[in-house]
Amino acid sequence: MKQSNFILFADCIPVKGFNRSIICDTKSNNYYLIPNGLYDILEEYNGKTIDTIKKDFEHRYDEIIDEYFDFLLNNKLIFFNSNPELFPKMSTKWNSPSLITNIIIDYDENIHDFNTLISQFEILKCSYIQLRFYKKIDLDYICSILKVLKEEKSRIVSIDFILPYYENFNLEELNVIIRENSRIHSIIIFNSPYDKSYEPLRQKMGYIMLVERNIINEKHCGIINEEYFYSNIKLFSESQHHNTCLNKKLSIDKEGNIKNCPSMPASFGNIKETTLSEALNQDGFKKYWNITKDQITTCKDCEFRHICTDCRAYIEEPHNIFSKPLKCGYDPYTNEWSDWSTNPLKQKAIEFYEF
Ligand code: SF4
Ligand code: SF4
Repeated sequence: MKQSNFILFADCIPVKGFNRSIICDTKSNNYYLIPNGLYDILEEYNGKTIDTIKKDFEHRYDEIIDEYFDFLLNNKLIFFNSNPELFPKMSTKWNSPSLITNIIIDYDENIHDFNTLISQFEILKCSYIQLRFYKKIDLDYICSILKVLKEEKSRIVSIDFILPYYENFNLEELNVIIRENSRIHSIIIFNSPYDKSYEPLRQKMGYIMLVERNIINEKHCGIINEEYFYSNIKLFSESQHHNTCLNKKLSIDKEGNIKNCPSMPASFGNIKETTLSEALNQDGFKKYWNITKDQITTCKDCEFRHICTDCRAYIEEPHNIFSKPLKCGYDPYTNEWSDWSTNPLKQKAIEFYEF
């Protein structure tokens, strides 16, 4: 079999970093670290035989090449076929029929009139919302939102709730809400006395997670770490052309101001007098939508750039919109993670954002 041409599965896409590369397995939300030498081989020789590679390297690296291919085979990243032309690369074009794909709505003391927003979600063809409550909220309010979405047969198919921990937290009560509402993707409870994740009730949907971290306002957003990497074709493709956080995003901050992101100062009206569509059509709303990771200082050399989100609200140099996300502690030049908040080079920006 190994005499035949090797082919990288089309949904396994290599990305080269400064020191090392990864293969993004976009089918199973996984990624594999590989040396840059293997990346170069995959780029140059995909569809050819292993013998061709060995010959081209004058048999000086046969052992290493065999190790590489054992690794690729063991992880089911390649297959063999003598007609490689039948297996073209997967397109990474990205498109969406939605004017807005995802909406964040922040709440603290003020409770927005949710009913007036539902018809506007339809106009924007938005199907994913995240509701972040910084102050205690009655679960009846959550249920009323879910009820009206059901009655209106809303196109919203996925909702994330972020809520503070509450006294007499009752897991079964939340499980009942999730069981009765298939639209719920997750309920995250912050400021919990312990960290705990529960299994989703439905495939990848309907899970509860308790986190000790306290999320008192929108300034807690924008953290980058490995747990938030997503290796899927949707994010990977979007990342080639657009910003992976802000593209087709709309937000309503806790005062009702309509923004691209709740942490950004630019407001395009308030939901009390402006519709979401009117805000979206204003100049400047889409300012960040087409900034890709390949344009960002440091990120452009990072092997994780197409599975990572890109925060533009909190950046290392607040006046340079192409600077690296502030809350990332990864250095692609050393391949080490460190605590971003204690990095001396970030202290000026940390002061600027008043963290
Ligand atoms: S730009 Fe940053 S702060 Fe804004 S929503 Fe994205 S990650 Fe959060
Ligand atoms: S350096 Fe950039 S691309 Fe890499 S992990 Fe940090 S934010 Fe993501």
